Amino acid sequence: MNIQIKHNSNQYEINSDEGTAISIPVKFNDSQNPKFYDTGNPEKKYYSSDGIEYSLSKGAGCNVPLINMNIHCSGTHTESANHVLSGGKFIGEIQNTNFISSQLISVQPESSTDEDYHAAYSDNDKIITKNILSNIELDKDFMDAIIIRTLPNDESKKTMNYNNAHHPFLTNDAVRYIKEMGVKHILIDTPSIDRYDDDGKLGNHHIFFTDNEKPNTNTITELIFVPNSCEDGKYFLSLGIASFNLDAAPSSPIIYKIK
Ligand SMILES: [Zn+2]
Repeated sequence: MNIQIKHNSNQYEINSDEGTAISIPVKFNDSQNPKFYDTGNPEKKYYSSDGIEYSLSKGAGCNVPLINMNIHCSGTHTESANHVLSGGKFIGEIQNTNFISSQLISVQPESSTDEDYHAAYSDNDKIITKNILSNIELDKDFMDAIIIRTLPNDESKKTMNYNNAHHPFLTNDAVRYIKEMGVKHILIDTPSIDRYDDDGKLGNHHIFFTDNEKPNTNTITELIFVPNSCEDGKYFLSLGIASFNLDAAPSSPIIYKIK
């Protein structure tokens, strides 16, 4: 179905049948998932009552799975300010998360920078800087979300153990630059916008989730995977967040190319 979207003063068209999922499917009782800190896997079993195990494979009339998963550490998820600020809204309370103007960019992280970061880092770190971002031509009128694909990009991200291979992270200057561009939603294919270990400060999260010292309604989506078939550029984005009264929920972002 072709949909006309008026955004600011411009008219755009997308085909709702041609969206691309940029999430990592969650596998249960299977180690083929990304891992960050927690090395356990998402688990499932089936609800049992009165001697019936509600699983088709056990002869029941339907499947009723019970799951146990670490939302932040094992797959694509979206988080709200409540992740780091007790007064922040739950992720399920964040409104208007469909047809968000967004730009997909691909970045080759740098190995050194003199930009600000709130914690010590080492020569082995890979860093996404304001310098990189400011050299990419971005349309400020189409920047409610930014989708960051780190290079190199391949399918290994779907099963990466980030305890062994630490991910690239953003400088504080890069996050401030993104905010200044009007971005309300960051999506990234790493497990965090902060360093693997920043002494527990989550400084970039605090910058992005705070306006005038109060929690805002921004979101961060981590552990996405953007197929190489998607070209950098403008898309409309639907975040597809489960409505949880928590700081985060699994999500299934879909991007729609502008025709
Ligand atoms: Zn998270």
